[in-house]
Amino acid sequence: MFTDSHCHLSFPPLSEQLPAIRAAMQAAQVGRALCICTTMEEFPAVHALALRYDNFWCSVGVHPDNEGVAEPTVQELVERAALPRVVAIGETGLDYYGMEDRKGGRSIADLEWQRERFRTHIRAARAAARPLVIHTRSASADTLAILREEGEDGGSASAGGVFHCFTETAAVARAALDLGYYISFSGIITFKNAQDLRDIAAFVPLERMLIETDSPYLAPVPYRGKTNTPAYVPEVARQIAAVRGLAVEAVAEATERNFERLFPQVVAA
Ligand SMILES: [Zn+2]
Ligand SMILES: [Zn+2]
Repeated sequence: MFTDSHCHLSFPPLSEQLPAIRAAMQAAQVGRALCICTTMEEFPAVHALALRYDNFWCSVGVHPDNEGVAEPTVQELVERAALPRVVAIGETGLDYYGMEDRKGGRSIADLEWQRERFRTHIRAARAAARPLVIHTRSASADTLAILREEGEDGGSASAGGVFHCFTETAAVARAALDLGYYISFSGIITFKNAQDLRDIAAFVPLERMLIETDSPYLAPVPYRGKTNTPAYVPEVARQIAAVRGLAVEAVAEATERNFERLFPQVVAA
């Protein structure tokens, strides 16, 4: 069996296709999915998925790209993290990609609100004892620095978590591992131009990696260009298995155990 550790099933068109997606997941031996929250406004819909289906779980958090949405407090995040089937805080982190166009020509200094929001999530994760789902894009130095400043050093007080949809360098992967974090690979690892990422998948310890789709985005080869769904997550495992010279079952087994170690509530329930 496989677990999709990061998907957005509350986003259209996935939200309108749930019965078909669930049937495709079953056919593809994808037994579980972690449904990721990106705004406080969205949380009730994401949480409803996890409450309705016994193999769905969810997070609570506000994505660093979202502006003009409710800004969460530590207390609001902690309260939601205590609800049934909420197993993670995020996705949170920093996104400095496209300062010229996506960010309207602002500077990194102008994005202090992102860093403050990230710190809020880290504090909530530590208070709630829930791992963080980290999104970092073109911002890895600040992401790592803020995690360290907030005490995330892999010690017993650390919330820990996962660097999701990993696309950074080998040095960033090593730094994240040193902080006790997991690395999650998405369908990007199957893309023709992603050899650097395949090289990283070759050295990240098998017991520290997760697999994900980040659906509806980033469908893996051979489905590239289609709407992605959790049913495609085995393609990520297949690519990791090829890189490491393993059977896909070995990668499936390891990433299942890793998911359960990082999010122990999924086993206890
Ligand atoms: Zn993300
Ligand atoms: Zn995401």
